Amino acid sequence: MVAALDINITKVETSKLTEMTLENLPFGRYFTDHMLEADFENGEWKNVEIKPYQPLLLEPSTAALHYGQAIFEGIKAYKDAEGNAAIFRPYDNFKRFNISAERMNMPVVPEEIFMEGLRMLVELDKNWIPSMPDHSLYIRPFMFSSDPVIGVKPSDTYKFLILLSPTGPYYTAPMKIYVEEKYTRASPGGVGFSKNAGNYGASMLATSNAKKAGYDQVLWTDAFEHKYLQEVGTMNVFFVIGNKAITPSLEDGTILAGVTRDSVLVVLKEMGLEVAETKITIDELMAAHASGELKEVFGTGTAATISLIKELRYKEYVMHFDTDNWKIAPEVKKRLNAIREGKAEDTHGWLYKV
Ligand SMILES: *Cc1c(COP(=O)(O)O)cnc(C)c1O
Repeated sequence: MVAALDINITKVETSKLTEMTLENLPFGRYFTDHMLEADFENGEWKNVEIKPYQPLLLEPSTAALHYGQAIFEGIKAYKDAEGNAAIFRPYDNFKRFNISAERMNMPVVPEEIFMEGLRMLVELDKNWIPSMPDHSLYIRPFMFSSDPVIGVKPSDTYKFLILLSPTGPYYTAPMKIYVEEKYTRASPGGVGFSKNAGNYGASMLATSNAKKAGYDQVLWTDAFEHKYLQEVGTMNVFFVIGNKAITPSLEDGTILAGVTRDSVLVVLKEMGLEVAETKITIDELMAAHASGELKEVFGTGTAATISLIKELRYKEYVMHFDTDNWKIAPEVKKRLNAIREGKAEDTHGWLYKV
């Protein structure tokens, strides 16, 4: 446990919670009473404070709006049946946040500000954690460059904030996926492994085009040959082929190392499957489909946990899946949710008590 930090807390006079119920909330639209804000100036983090959720006052010249030094994280907090609050694997998000920061030439955020700030904020707003099944409190830490200067250079000043948003249930119907061959998400040497805002901005056109063609998301392929499979939209992807679960490996730096991806790998092994992190091509996938070995395809991420894929289209080749009869992805989702909601024993130490 990190030493209690000097965080100045200003509480709201009246909670907004009295005016709303935490049921069936759309993702990311409502925010709790408080937020955390800190400033990086003269080489150090200062003014760490928790205060009422409020607008930021920014100069139009704010560097992040022009040059995109901006990163974020997505984490969830849950309440168990006794009303105890816990956050799922936040330390992994903390580490990834600073990996993103380094790649984007931004200062790292010290552990005591990220972890203890997060804990104090969630503790203060813990009445906002919905207790209904499939509901949670989504936590959004983020950092952006804040110099009011439009010269192209790394900023001297940055802002770090944490917002909390009650959400759920996050239901996603089985998805139809279009294998993307024109646009790319990430290439070796690029920023694909970092959770930076630009990755999302750059993905929207391909996704919109896929939607117009009747698909929900794209499956990204590598930038050189459009052959190696990367991720599905903003989620990691898993393929169950025979008795083996495969997810694309991380070594090229083109894939975001999802915390859910890592958790799913652990749970799959516990279920007795062979797992592999390896390169996999669309040709190998089609061959596995043609031979009847390709059993399940699903995406993983904090927002939806597991999203089943019922159709995959590559050029004129369409793969259909009978998701109603799947065994593995629904079981992984059930096991993970049971751990997160405190209904199954947390044997991996994944829950961070608030
Ligand atoms: C955030 C993200 C994921 C999922 O990561 P989790 O830690 O599981 O939420 C996967 N791919 C991309 C591109 C992402 O930004």
